[in-house]
Amino acid sequence: MDGVPLRCFSEDHSEEMFVDDGVETVTSVEQVSPANNPSLCLHFRPALLREQHYQYLKKGLRHLSDAYECLDASRPWLCFWILHSLELLEEPIPTTVASDVCQFLSRCQSPTGGFAGGPGQHAHLAPTYAAVNALCIIGSEEAYNIIDREKLLDFLWSVKQPDGSFVMHVGGEVDVRSAYCAASVASLTNILTPRLFEDTISWILRCQNWEGGLSGVPGLEAHGGYTFCGTAALVILGKEHMLDLKALLRWVVSRQMRFEGGFQGRCNKLVDGCYSFWQAGLLPLLHRALFKEGATELSRQRWMFEQQALQEYILLCCQNPTGGLLDKPGKSRDFYHTCYCLSGLSVAQHFWNLDLHHERVLSREENRLAPTHPVYNICPEKVAQALQHFHRLPVPSGDRASDPHPAAAAAADPQS
Ligand SMILES: [Zn+2]
Repeated sequence: MDGVPLRCFSEDHSEEMFVDDGVETVTSVEQVSPANNPSLCLHFRPALLREQHYQYLKKGLRHLSDAYECLDASRPWLCFWILHSLELLEEPIPTTVASDVCQFLSRCQSPTGGFAGGPGQHAHLAPTYAAVNALCIIGSEEAYNIIDREKLLDFLWSVKQPDGSFVMHVGGEVDVRSAYCAASVASLTNILTPRLFEDTISWILRCQNWEGGLSGVPGLEAHGGYTFCGTAALVILGKEHMLDLKALLRWVVSRQMRFEGGFQGRCNKLVDGCYSFWQAGLLPLLHRALFKEGATELSRQRWMFEQQALQEYILLCCQNPTGGLLDKPGKSRDFYHTCYCLSGLSVAQHFWNLDLHHERVLSREENRLAPTHPVYNICPEKVAQALQHFHRLPVPSGDRASDPHPAAAAAADPQS
């Protein structure tokens, strides 16, 4: 896409400027701020600041500023956010660093199964997802062998609820993130059994509301993060066709902001770089679900959102000039937004369905990132490698576990 004129410089772009219908709110005032205007942002040519991001990420693996103290219970997340960003940038992880990350994550593994937010803390589904993903990105024998699959299965049973949902930790809250985290780690490590996810499908389906998106628990407002989690969990369980796919499609494409080009997380909210993945990442899942349903009008080259506009928003508005990415101009960089802005940029660059692969890289070839797997959000070859490794091992036995789930392997195929 070299030489393609930028959308935000086109004459009719200003017509997309937000209109508040005469009802001024805090959000509507913020929304018209010049800070959200891609054409007024940092760089006249959208260039991915690779070297700056690399230096920022590399430093983060060894040293974090005081600002990260509040994430003391999310330390495996920091490993995942940084390692995944590095793999998208195609920066290899030195063997000694990879081994140090493995040893750190092994200290986060709970004696009762699953991973905690830090050494000595209680196991929790969110850091369990992050730790398993981080170990699969490293992809060495040392990394795979850290995961105690039998105890991980025990932990998943300990958070399973009678209605099919999962709590995030023993005694903790229920929401649809937990179903995704559980399905993701269970499928990657080959401990997924139908009984473990009994009633989970119907519980997730109840989270889709009248808006078309999914909420955290049945009956609440649709939200990008929860919608991704619920949909991706259903893909893993092979039941995504049971969603109202057309309503979901309408909801998610309406979350791409006509003026900014990025996505909002919920109706009437501001654009935010991290939804570049949580929302745009739904489009590959939806495309493939509709394809499997036999939809004939699907493109063979692109997802059903404005891929160029999203790339413009991320490259023009979400990069810190000294490395790291962010929510929107004026906000500070962090590893979470760095990971999900880059993940969304990758989704916007790569179309991939069966044997069709089409790249749409804005502005210059150097902006190209590696593709990411739309279900697990790690690179597809790392998913394939983990499945190959863990599918050689038997599903842990026990009176609660039974047969492996055939849908898990299919969901894990990036081309399926
Ligand atoms: Zn955000």
